[in-house]
Amino acid sequence: MTSYDVAIIGLGAMGSAAAYQLAKRGVSVIGFDRFTPPHTMGSSHGDTRIIREAYHESPAYVPIVQRAYELWDELAEEAGETLLQQTGGLMLGEPEGETVSGAIRSAELHGLAYEVLDADEVRKRWPQFNAPDQFAAVHEDRSGILFPEKCISAQLSGSIRVGAELRYGTQVSGWVKDGDGVNVHTDSGDVSAGQLLITAGAWMPGLVPELALPVEIERQVLFWFEPALNADLFDPTHCPVYIWEYESGHAFYGFPNLGDGVKIARHHDGRVVDPDFLDRDEVSDVDEEMLRKQLSRMMPYASGRVIRSEVCMYTNTPDQHYLIGFHPENASVLIGSPCSGHGFKMASALGESFAELLLDGESRHDLSLFALDRLLT
Ligand SMILES: Cc1cc2nc3c(=O)[nH]c(=O)nc-3n(C[C@H](O)[C@H](O)[C@H](O)COP(=O)(O)OP(=O)(O)OC[C@H]3O[C@@H](n4cnc5c(N)ncnc54)[C@H](O)[C@@H]3O)c2cc1C
Repeated sequence: MTSYDVAIIGLGAMGSAAAYQLAKRGVSVIGFDRFTPPHTMGSSHGDTRIIREAYHESPAYVPIVQRAYELWDELAEEAGETLLQQTGGLMLGEPEGETVSGAIRSAELHGLAYEVLDADEVRKRWPQFNAPDQFAAVHEDRSGILFPEKCISAQLSGSIRVGAELRYGTQVSGWVKDGDGVNVHTDSGDVSAGQLLITAGAWMPGLVPELALPVEIERQVLFWFEPALNADLFDPTHCPVYIWEYESGHAFYGFPNLGDGVKIARHHDGRVVDPDFLDRDEVSDVDEEMLRKQLSRMMPYASGRVIRSEVCMYTNTPDQHYLIGFHPENASVLIGSPCSGHGFKMASALGESFAELLLDGESRHDLSLFALDRLLT
């Protein structure tokens, strides 16, 4: 049996980034994906993802996203593709809500450029956002849009170019410790590797059932709306990416119109699902109505007919921070589950961190917020 330095289960956003970084360092890498990435079955489809720097979830993410910007730029240059489009970003909500106050906290702590606006200024500058009087907003120029399918394709092609072996349409059913390394069971035979990286997204818990991780998979629906009025206001030259915390702990987010409608979705508030039994084709009137209710108040011009919808999955931890760490009973196995609905932007940098953790035992970033042992009982 051929043996590899590192095997990777899952070649979506995180696994493709790690494959690229590992293979670039001269490591022999084999990666498996049960589908053919980029695909629409996991957590990384739907054309667009927000990237932002004034990170309201915690200032600890800021150095990671700063590195991610650099690596996305390098990858774009290497691939000859546009992977990131800068539009500016607007975080709206009650001034003391997490989205606004957390963004200011991160921006202050890391000396980032940002503006704070009251509702009147928001409505004047961006009439497409009907901010309630008591709302405030944080605007930052550096925010923008990543194109996830193109990013993943660029990472996969880059990985192959520097020597990674990638097997698509190959499902991993499990793995076992084998001496100092691991033996990975796939539907086309076993593979042996010195180390294993599990970046299987929504399927990650099933690959480490012994840990009984308190992780939930949440169904999320994306909508593309035809603007009902003033369509030009949603052009990327006039419209930033945005996150609206419309009630404490409840938010929706969206993008300018890139030619196929205004994409808007609720952040969380979806139902818990099993990724193997998710009905991806069934979007209900209830899904749409819950979003329309907010749009009719806050973005009425966007609320025209639905052009398209897609179903996607979040892999959530209880505190909504990522989950990254070595398996407590097997130091050759690294679990990388940076999701909770906000992982994509960091993938380029986290792929690098996974490579560093596997090869050097530590990452350049402080990843303690994401420690695996905080979720073990
Ligand atoms: C609707 C939605 C909107 C989002 N918006 C944003 C945003 O604006 N900004 C942002 O930063 N983040 C956002 N996120 C989060 C971000 O997209 C995810 O954190 C990220 O894409 C997760 O990447 P991943 O590699 O963990 O999962 P995936 O990309 O889903 O990859 C997991 C891969 O593992 C494979 N796999 C699973 N099990 C096996 C197995 N047994 N054998 C072989 N292969 C296997 C799967 O086929 C899949 O390709 C959003 C997520 C969703 C769902």
